[in-house]
Amino acid sequence: MTARIYMDHHATTPTDPRVVEAMLPYFTERFGNPASALHAHGQEAEEAVEVARGQVAALLGARPEEILFTSGATESNNLALRGAALGQARGLPILTVATEHVSVLDPCRDLAHGGASLSVLPVDAQGTLAAERVAEALAGRPALVSVMLANNEIGTLQPVAEIARACRERGALVHTDAAQAAGRVPVDVDGLGVDLLSVSGHKMHGPKGVGALYVRGLPHRSPLAPVSRGGGQEGGLRPGTLNVPGIVGLGAACDIARREQTAESARVAHLRDRLQAGILARVQGVQVNGHPAHRLPGNLNLTFQGVDGEALMLALPGIALSSGSACLSTTREPSHVLLALGRTPAQARGSLRFGLGRFTTEAEVDQVIGEVARAVERLRALSPVQLPARPR
Ligand code: PMP
Repeated sequence: MTARIYMDHHATTPTDPRVVEAMLPYFTERFGNPASALHAHGQEAEEAVEVARGQVAALLGARPEEILFTSGATESNNLALRGAALGQARGLPILTVATEHVSVLDPCRDLAHGGASLSVLPVDAQGTLAAERVAEALAGRPALVSVMLANNEIGTLQPVAEIARACRERGALVHTDAAQAAGRVPVDVDGLGVDLLSVSGHKMHGPKGVGALYVRGLPHRSPLAPVSRGGGQEGGLRPGTLNVPGIVGLGAACDIARREQTAESARVAHLRDRLQAGILARVQGVQVNGHPAHRLPGNLNLTFQGVDGEALMLALPGIALSSGSACLSTTREPSHVLLALGRTPAQARGSLRFGLGRFTTEAEVDQVIGEVARAVERLRALSPVQLPARPR
């Protein structure tokens, strides 16, 4: 039986056992509803939620009152964009980027169907959007701008601080999707200068189904109007009974990330570099997608010339990898991110995403190098491709 190696940390991460331990009591003896805090059960749940709010805020350099809990980054992105379009950014044009996650692109398209003007800005061949491009597109007018911090397929880090500076000078409201960045690279809302920022628990060794939205100015001033209505939880901006165990888990995951991120990112980047160098040394006709330096530490996205990414994945049954975004892996559409870099549909279909994380080992990396090299060789032997001569 082949060993199972997990290299799909952009799709999700294993929950850290320390996080699970922190969550467990909130399913059983501490099951109270924080909105029903006239008794001890509710009070202890409320206290746990407020501790977690402080832990999330500390990771992001925010104030606890500026953190709203949600069901994940999809909801955070929708609430940020739809809520801003109903609130402070009502009637403003919307600017976003071709390589965004669908949970940003689709709400932007919906808002455009509702009459908003929408510009989807292109990126360069490494997936970067230059701040000057945003400044040009704003043309001196305010807007609602959404630019992700780190891409989920190619790992490219956008210059969000510079982009936000250009936006602020023109009175624009700035949102960033930090689902892949938080816990992996430093994220500081003031350093970035953003108004809204989304995070997800399960991308940082926390639980699934929980996330947060940072909203600058809360509780006194809200750029958002409510999108769904119900109870008054989260200042009325995210009504519904809070997922207390999930929120406790998100808080614990943020607390671990705050303390360990620097050392962990260095270790993971070293392993990623070893994986990249190992595959490039053994396999010809491989192209690295994304920015060579401004990239998530655990990300490696490769195009194997003349090889179908899904066939390659099937040839590597023991290794959990992804061809494109996990959310879209049921479609056979080539990745919109790789197409935005200028790859052809065939090249995009020949790409694999490796995602390394907290528990990835050097032995796993070495095994993956060997298995990938052998699988590519086998597939190319079945349908030979003409490879450029290897440079000497
Ligand atoms: N944004 C990005 C960049 C992501 O990678 C993901 C998850 N694939 C999401 C948003 C959605 O996050 P969630 O699964 O928490 O809804």
